[in-house]
Amino acid sequence: MQKNVSPRVHAGHHLPEITGISLDVLERKLREFGQSAYRMRQIMNWIYHKHVHAFDDMSNLSKNLRTTLSGNFALGRLEQVACVKAEKGDAAKFGFELRDGAGIIESVLLYDDRRRTACISSQLGCNLGCVFCETGRLGLLRNLTQGEILGQLLAMNEYLEKRGDKSITNVVFMGMGEALANFRHFRNAVDYLMHPDAFNLGGRRITVSTAGVVPSIERLMREKLNVNLAISLNTYSNELRDRLMPINKKYPIEQLIEVSHRYFEHTGRRVTFEYVLIKGENDSDAAAAALKKHLAGLTCKVNVIPLNNCDYSSEKTPAKADVVRFVKKLHSFDIGATIRTTRGNDIFGACGQLGHLLLHKKSAAYQNI
Ligand code: SAH
Ligand code: SF4
Repeated sequence: MQKNVSPRVHAGHHLPEITGISLDVLERKLREFGQSAYRMRQIMNWIYHKHVHAFDDMSNLSKNLRTTLSGNFALGRLEQVACVKAEKGDAAKFGFELRDGAGIIESVLLYDDRRRTACISSQLGCNLGCVFCETGRLGLLRNLTQGEILGQLLAMNEYLEKRGDKSITNVVFMGMGEALANFRHFRNAVDYLMHPDAFNLGGRRITVSTAGVVPSIERLMREKLNVNLAISLNTYSNELRDRLMPINKKYPIEQLIEVSHRYFEHTGRRVTFEYVLIKGENDSDAAAAALKKHLAGLTCKVNVIPLNNCDYSSEKTPAKADVVRFVKKLHSFDIGATIRTTRGNDIFGACGQLGHLLLHKKSAAYQNI
């Protein structure tokens, strides 16, 4: 059931969120208002660096311009409904309720002295149906808007600011959803991630993870987004991948490998293959050998992610020794492979477990937040 929401209304119209319109449109609008590029930079600074919540607080703008801005745009925030810190103090998970009442999205912040990595959502749910993934179980409720994608980062930067920490250094689209199935909003958000007056991150600090939507990977290259690409390969054979990740029937392993070669040639960035390790399914030495064949001649790395158990799925986590054995096997083939750390496990912040808040809204874990 939809919840009642109170949208911002001005003169009978809903005002667009200023964080929800593309850079091009923002530029055009400000030009229409007779404003210079310099003014645009000042406005962006107020929003993305000084984190003001109202146009009226933009004190170096004229009263006239502030009135024009508040008459044309909203400057809202995502509604934070949960913030759970990991016991070790190296991660926090956030829940944000969407304004239209469609549901709760989750984002995770992993931090240490060097890096502050935001793992953000691009969709509420996902319709790609990977059997081991909690988000997949929700189905696709809806795509997130550009403003909702950026809103997660704004909230996390404010959180860091309050702790006296510096802002986010890395962004990974590995939260809920498939960013490449929400291409326009994803790519417009990336423009802001890279803009010096917004999040100011280079392409090498931004990673999009995909289950393998090949035409969107081609579009990344065409539109020269130049971000890091991670492909959730997860298996070594089409037969197994068809079963675990139904998208494989459309874009099988050979196509993923072929487009990865092109991605490297095109961008100079080596592709990361994520490989969720599942006990008895894809963790044998023979699996490692089959994987090696696929990756022959490709400049890439493999990130092994021990499966995080989900209540509903029969797939199981391998023993630690088996994870190490598998990775050593890959090393013996000269494949660069690492094990993804499981930071944030105690807050259900781990890979594939986002959606928990929504699925378990009535559970004790949720009530405790
Ligand atoms: N839709 C994108 C990004 C979100 S999923 C994608 O599939 O790549 C982010 C990562 O979590 C993917 O690599 C996915 O394979 C992994 N993942 C999903 N469920 C998992 C689980 N239960 N345990 C560990 N990793 C999981
Ligand atoms: Fe969607 Fe990624 Fe989960 Fe698959 S693993 S269901 S693509 S979010």
